[in-house]
Amino acid sequence: MRAMLLGLLALGAASVAEGYMVGVGKADATSSLTQTAMMGYANPSQQSSGLHTRLWARAFVVQDADFKVAFVSLDSGMPSVAVRQEVVKRLLQKFPDQRYTARNVMISGTHSHSGPGGYFEYFLFEITSLGFVNQTFEAFTQAIVDSIVIADASLVDGSVSLQKTKLANSSNINRSPFSYLNNPQAERDRYPDGNTDKDMVQLRFDSTAGKNLGVFNWFAIHGTALNFTNTLISGDSRGIASQWMEQRHQTKGALPGQEDYVAAFAATNLGDVSPNTAGSVCHGGPAEGQMCDFETSTCPNEKEKPRSTECYNLGPGKDMYESARIMAQQQLDASELMVAGTDAKVLTGPVGAVHQYTNMSGYQLSTGGHTCAAAMGYSFASGTTDGPGDFDFHQHQLNGTKFWDTVSQDILDKLISKEWGHRNPNAADFACHAPKPVLLFTGMYHFPWHWHPDTVELQLIRIGDLFIAGVPGEFTTMAGRRIREAVAAKAKSLGVANPEIVISGLSNQYTHYITTPEEYDVQRYEGASTLFGRNTLPAYTELFEGLAVNMVNGQQPPAGTPQQPVPYFKTSVFPPKLHADELPKAVSFGQAINQTNADYNVSSQPMVSFSFYGANLRHDPLKGSSFYTVEKNTGNNTWVPVANDGSVSTRMRWASRKTIEDSLMELKSEHVDEQNPNSPMRHLWGGINEWIGSRFGRTIDFAAVQKCVDAGKKVEIDRLIPSEGVCTLLEVTSSWKDNHPVKSMVRDVSFPFTKTYSTVTLSWEPAVDSAGAGEYRFNFAAPYQGEDGQLHGYASISNSFNLH
Ligand code: ZN
Repeated sequence: MRAMLLGLLALGAASVAEGYMVGVGKADATSSLTQTAMMGYANPSQQSSGLHTRLWARAFVVQDADFKVAFVSLDSGMPSVAVRQEVVKRLLQKFPDQRYTARNVMISGTHSHSGPGGYFEYFLFEITSLGFVNQTFEAFTQAIVDSIVIADASLVDGSVSLQKTKLANSSNINRSPFSYLNNPQAERDRYPDGNTDKDMVQLRFDSTAGKNLGVFNWFAIHGTALNFTNTLISGDSRGIASQWMEQRHQTKGALPGQEDYVAAFAATNLGDVSPNTAGSVCHGGPAEGQMCDFETSTCPNEKEKPRSTECYNLGPGKDMYESARIMAQQQLDASELMVAGTDAKVLTGPVGAVHQYTNMSGYQLSTGGHTCAAAMGYSFASGTTDGPGDFDFHQHQLNGTKFWDTVSQDILDKLISKEWGHRNPNAADFACHAPKPVLLFTGMYHFPWHWHPDTVELQLIRIGDLFIAGVPGEFTTMAGRRIREAVAAKAKSLGVANPEIVISGLSNQYTHYITTPEEYDVQRYEGASTLFGRNTLPAYTELFEGLAVNMVNGQQPPAGTPQQPVPYFKTSVFPPKLHADELPKAVSFGQAINQTNADYNVSSQPMVSFSFYGANLRHDPLKGSSFYTVEKNTGNNTWVPVANDGSVSTRMRWASRKTIEDSLMELKSEHVDEQNPNSPMRHLWGGINEWIGSRFGRTIDFAAVQKCVDAGKKVEIDRLIPSEGVCTLLEVTSSWKDNHPVKSMVRDVSFPFTKTYSTVTLSWEPAVDSAGAGEYRFNFAAPYQGEDGQLHGYASISNSFNLH
């Protein structure tokens, strides 16, 4: 009897050894908190100025007896080729046994539009994020590597369970329903969910010892709950859901960053899916408050001309931060319900990965037809109702205009295609994209280097019956359904009984959107941004069916050739250089600007705010740490932290201010316009934004200038025609001399008495943390930098307040 029992135990042990090992990890990816163009809306005026939630790379590793795979979800718009290549390089350095390579590591962006830019290689992405920002590049790269290393080190015997649920109708909305309606009626009728997917597919990771290690799930929603007016770094609704889930499953009181439970809410076929569920409404103009035009998403302006600018979606909340929380809450509840529930399919079977580089600029379909060199259509420039564009572009634009065709074909095509050893796009190239009117033939622009890729990475990961398709862009709802069904049918035909296909959106690199050919035909934003032409989706479908065959048959597909690396900027060209932190006279780092010891009545003041003289938050993002905590006095001066800078309830906002120390200063000019000696001169003042138009040789009252600066106005002195928003000082006293020398040029005039200093405002919404009445404090410390570029100390402050 005893021998038999031991035998059974041994059998049990053997079956565990044949199961999986699982590990999860997360690492802080926060960076570039100020003065950096953000990635998502391609709007250079959206420059980071603080922090809402920290960004994270979250990884899981699953291993069977033969092979392991790593999947990473990164809180960012999308990964880049540059980041991915560097990640693979660093993993090879860390693990010379080649356990992680491009084949078995998949990196997917959550598509938050509130992360920093500057980590790209292709020129179109570089210009929209205003150059290369090494801090962003380094933070993303190292966080991805760290998260995999942590997951690898934490591998334990365990299981992966597949779970699925549906979210409410209010959880997302289609932002291009006109495109969706162009799909065949019979096909649409097969989907009771309607024009967006409501499914959340989740993997739950448990150790054999019984510990729930974390969850990874996929739900279709754009990372645009925070719109382009947000300048605080944030993970948007997915980042919020992840943060809340991780805190819930941790020891009570753990703050963001202190968890080992890992919950990733990852991107899938979200191409046409918006979180801004209030729908497309006209804001301003004669149609204010009415629905936008259904086909073009435009509203009439004052001259009754249709424009995209004033048509946009708003979320369900009172402001965008509340909207992001509402959307996060729905995802969190669905995930939580599945974790608590028993409805789970434990995955068994092989772990595998197949990977291929494919040139998408001229892929021949087996059924005839081909793809095209990358190009953007007119409606790309219109933007979407989550972030409308400018000029007179609109969605559903089927014809070019004379003006923009001239700019595109007579200037750009000729200058930046042909001149650099490449040919101009010809009639066949344009015809290939029909019915898309091409605005930018980016696949044929090679100056100063490639604007867009030809070659993409395709990747399929398998864990038992689950197949994760890593696609390099944003599939629309129906495009996602089609490719999922095609890959599932292929796997079934090869003997996989119940394959579950997940689309991992925005994986490994970015090539904009992928619509169905029918959606492509109406050329809204998503169709115009389908880079490789009308056959893009059929090509991907065929390619991923091929990868599924390779996977099930245990073969590797032909590796293909990666695109030649492009010589992207390696320096921070555009973001202003960091300089020493300065202060106005007679204040110190950390000194309060507004009152301390305030009393807050949360029913009338839902937001606690506090400002002080701080430092530029770009010096050091304090990876894995926090700039501050919100602490509660639990009695006897014992302070217990309730939130930190990564908490959903807090916001940290930075601002740059200027001061002028001396009250009067005479400037002597070396130049007068001979023709027009009385014309005002303009001079760039301090190098940043403000202009002084000055008749040189005058005496300027800098105390008056300071007042203008404090009021946040541009300063122009003695400008002849005052303009709006400009502080014009006409009362300056003149010391103009008529016999002034006339021919020399204006030299740089330095303003050593100008100081640039930082203010920081901390805000906290106690209701988000369900914080009760009592005494609280902000406990803050940020590094500040001296002239030598070294850290000289910490601007620190502790500021208490009472909640009623
Ligand atoms: Zn998008």
